[in-house]
Amino acid sequence: MGMGVSLPCNASAGLGKTSFFDEKIMAYGMLENKEHILNGNTMIEQEFLRRFLFEGVGVRGEWVNLTTSWQAAKQHQHLSTVEQQLLGQALVAVVMLSATIKFKGSMILQAQGDGTITTLVAQSTDERKMRGLVRSRGEVVAGSLESMFGQGRLVLTVDSGNAKPYQGIVPLQGEHLATVLESYFEQSEQLNTRLWLFANATHAAGLLLQELPAQDGDEADWQRIEMLANTITEAELLELDCETLLYRLFHEEKVRLFDAEAVEFECSCSRQKIEKTLRAMGKEELEDILKERGSIEVICEFCSEHYQFDKVDVETFLLAEGVNHDSATVH
Ligand SMILES: [Zn+2]
Repeated sequence: MGMGVSLPCNASAGLGKTSFFDEKIMAYGMLENKEHILNGNTMIEQEFLRRFLFEGVGVRGEWVNLTTSWQAAKQHQHLSTVEQQLLGQALVAVVMLSATIKFKGSMILQAQGDGTITTLVAQSTDERKMRGLVRSRGEVVAGSLESMFGQGRLVLTVDSGNAKPYQGIVPLQGEHLATVLESYFEQSEQLNTRLWLFANATHAAGLLLQELPAQDGDEADWQRIEMLANTITEAELLELDCETLLYRLFHEEKVRLFDAEAVEFECSCSRQKIEKTLRAMGKEELEDILKERGSIEVICEFCSEHYQFDKVDVETFLLAEGVNHDSATVH
């Protein structure tokens, strides 16, 4: 991380409290005054997710700030400022949400509507490999979610490779994506959850606060912490490193900060998966396209990888279908 900040590691205390975290957490430290990194020109900690815990209060949090991976995720798409903001917000949201549960596989946030923006997809694996895209027709004018998406809904999917993935659905209503996700957690999980999501051309950053499940947290504690967090500004979240920000917001609270987890842009597309999609279109349609264009070209919308299939390729994978049905591993 190259920040020269060493956290005191008193590894004996309170480990029971951290049981909801997965095994990737190796060490932790208490938040302390980091004034020496407040005086400007500090290297900001980027491409990381950090989790934290309010000790003895039953509230947890996450912080994420992306730059390089954010550039990588959007560079293949020609997005307007509004579209970039939405995609960045969706990406940091799904990265943080993927870290609130233990699972293997992919979490997918998908917003769809009949408005100017038709699709917003953001995906993160349990290893924080993320990708996303925006599809729209015409110029998107900044406004409420309804004004951009029309009649829409947000679907949150946890795909662990099982036959039936877990799905939660909420209507796309309100001013911000964060509000939609907050109401999702309130309705589906009965958990107080707050999200702050911001993105610009260079940074995408997020903060999440959530009550711990199955704990009789004190409502007053939650309200106090939420009020402190509510003072956060867009500039602070986009520009400050995690420890400085948490100190600024919560220096009167006992905050346990966990090790950083790397976040990366990585597309999971492959020739094999594209073949599977093509096969689903059916032999006749594929033959029609081949007749018309000579070959089938597929471009991945997430990473702009080109895949080309000529007549022989198509015949080969159609033939292979009959031999081995489950040769295409999707995950
Ligand atoms: Zn791809």
